[in-house]
Amino acid sequence: MSAIDSLPPLREVIARHGLSARKSLGQNFLLDLNLTAKIARQAGDLENCDVLEIGPGPGGLTRGLLAEGARHVLAIEKDSRCLPALAEIAEAYPGRLTVIEGDALEIDPLAHLTPPIRVAANLPYNVGTELLVRWLTPRDWPPFWESLTLMFQREVAERIVAQPGSKAYGRLAILAQWRAEARIAMQLPPGAFTPPPKVSSSVVHLTALPEPRFPADPDVLSRVVAAAFNQRRKMLRASLKGVAPDIEDRLIAAGIAPTDRAEQVPLEGFCALARQVATR
Ligand code: SAM
Repeated sequence: MSAIDSLPPLREVIARHGLSARKSLGQNFLLDLNLTAKIARQAGDLENCDVLEIGPGPGGLTRGLLAEGARHVLAIEKDSRCLPALAEIAEAYPGRLTVIEGDALEIDPLAHLTPPIRVAANLPYNVGTELLVRWLTPRDWPPFWESLTLMFQREVAERIVAQPGSKAYGRLAILAQWRAEARIAMQLPPGAFTPPPKVSSSVVHLTALPEPRFPADPDVLSRVVAAAFNQRRKMLRASLKGVAPDIEDRLIAAGIAPTDRAEQVPLEGFCALARQVATR
């Protein structure tokens, strides 16, 4: 197979820079450049976009994003050992890669990005979930991003795209599907990574909708959904008692049976309930 760029193979880069994977940083690297190019293609047409990449590591996905034509990639990496390898990539793509060393949970990247912006990342799963929730919950919509292309462990990916009536359906599904289109774009076995993690992974692609599917206040919806799924086995009239004293009436007004459980209520129902809770 032909390489996607003129840079050395990633195994060589890793050996030369001593980038042994660290568990504490959730380092499971993708070394197959055909695979990273394929993931980059899932992010959509990058030609006129800035791409925010979190956790580039030795730069496999970064190289994919640049080879697929991203206008500019801003990469945030916590592990300073990776910076020399990333500097070589920046040199091969003059003016198109900026690397910031630091913790993505603490850095505001927006000053360095010009819309339209897409996000792509193969991140440690805990950091990925926390960032996903942040990216999905701004007060104002549309958000700064047009799409998110993110690697998750398969079980988390299934929670993002889950439908009512399934065990995986919960807060993450509702947050993701209320204002975005979410789908699983690729499945990857553990052996795709070096070292291999214990579980399979999935690439999830989310596209921001121009506006929410159903009207609701984001903070009220978040509160209602969190309460409903915190006690997901209880009937809603019990799990939502703390949300409003007359919750039974409000459930009925929203078209939901007070004896239903959270798992049975579709997104539209939760939005209707959030509107009922918001009215006095
Ligand atoms: N993207 C590379 C790849 O696909 O081969 C590396 C993936 S590895 C699963 C996760 C990367 O995220 C590592 O390089 C790790 O150092 C970095 N990382 C971990 N926590 C981070 C954080 N809070 N902020 C930024 N980068 C982080």
